[in-house]
Amino acid sequence: MTNLYSQWLCAGLHVCAPALCHSCNNLLEYDEVCLCNRCREWFRPPDDPKCLRCNARVGPHLDTADGCLLCKRDHFYFEKVVSLGFYQSQFKDAILRIKHLQGEQLARTLGALLGEHFSCTQGFQPDFITCIPVHWWKRLIKGHNQTEAIATGVADVLKKPFVNWALRKVRHTPEQSGLLPTERRKNLRQVFTNVSKSLIQGKQILLVDDVLTTGTTANQAAKVLISAGAKQVVVAVLARSFGR
Ligand SMILES: [Zn+2]
Ligand SMILES: [Zn+2]
Repeated sequence: MTNLYSQWLCAGLHVCAPALCHSCNNLLEYDEVCLCNRCREWFRPPDDPKCLRCNARVGPHLDTADGCLLCKRDHFYFEKVVSLGFYQSQFKDAILRIKHLQGEQLARTLGALLGEHFSCTQGFQPDFITCIPVHWWKRLIKGHNQTEAIATGVADVLKKPFVNWALRKVRHTPEQSGLLPTERRKNLRQVFTNVSKSLIQGKQILLVDDVLTTGTTANQAAKVLISAGAKQVVVAVLARSFGR
């Protein structure tokens, strides 16, 4: 009976204040939350072949157990990257939206989809989930950190704790986009630090970010976790971007 009441209540609220899909802006049905079913399907991972190591799109029938042409020569401190999709069209729009405070619910919802994808395809069992931190000043100005919201969605689905203080960003840095790979590395040198070694030691950690392009940011953060004694780090991102 309680279910019936809550269904009536949802239907009533929907008539009074119709909600819009956070991605396509179409009216949501009363049983849809945040995303319409069409967009939800769109955000399912594509079947395209991906590199098992860096998750870049690759040609069919390639053995990428040791990496692809893009990542083979890179030394990663993380084991591999798992992504929900590629940084294009609707994904690109959604990732721009979640940078703003109004995109918090969308970030959590996409995080939940990432968590579902992760739990279906990976054998890795994280002890906890953490995310790429932002500098405290940027967090204060923006009012939120989208990677925290994504990681919360992932943690809810995986039923693992989300620890948002495993890493700290010690100084503000310019945006990575637009920088050359060598400049990216220089920009992020010694920018992350761990907060508590005892929290990290011996742990399997799932590190969440919104987009992965060259992997420099995730690698710098994973380096700090591994140096502090983490057993293994796997990276989960909403979208894998092209190029290096
Ligand atoms: Zn939609
Ligand atoms: Zn690769």
